[in-house]
Amino acid sequence: MIIFDLKCAQGHPFEGWFEDHKDLQSQLKRGLVACPVCGSEKVERVPSTFAIAKGARSQPDQEMAAKLLGRSVKRYFLENFDNVGPQFAKEALKMHYGASQPRNIRGVSTPEEEKMLKQEGIEFFKVGPMEAEDQAQEGGGEDDD
Ligand SMILES: [Zn+2]
Repeated sequence: MIIFDLKCAQGHPFEGWFEDHKDLQSQLKRGLVACPVCGSEKVERVPSTFAIAKGARSQPDQEMAAKLLGRSVKRYFLENFDNVGPQFAKEALKMHYGASQPRNIRGVSTPEEEKMLKQEGIEFFKVGPMEAEDQAQEGGGEDDD
């Protein structure tokens, strides 16, 4: 089973358990996945955001991750981590093997890449779907379009 980060047409982020990527696609196609907040069946996958902090090997990165997960430090995270997007796994490998300077990076990666990075012994952490969270701001009340 794999957890995929999903969001509905209204931007509500949620997670769903699926056998694999194929299972996700087929369930989405058949309208079997609905948003738990508003019930919308217009659901799409959000690539997970991952990050590596410079010097993570020598520092307790669990603590760092916990800090970064807090909403108040999201700005810090956005400003101090280079967004490498889908190049995340590649950049992480380069830093791991000394092909590029260690630095703070963030980006998205597939479950396959995530597995590969773990096998390589690379320390990174999952941040969650940042963009979806940005849209799902509180307040507003129940406006039904
Ligand atoms: Zn929704």
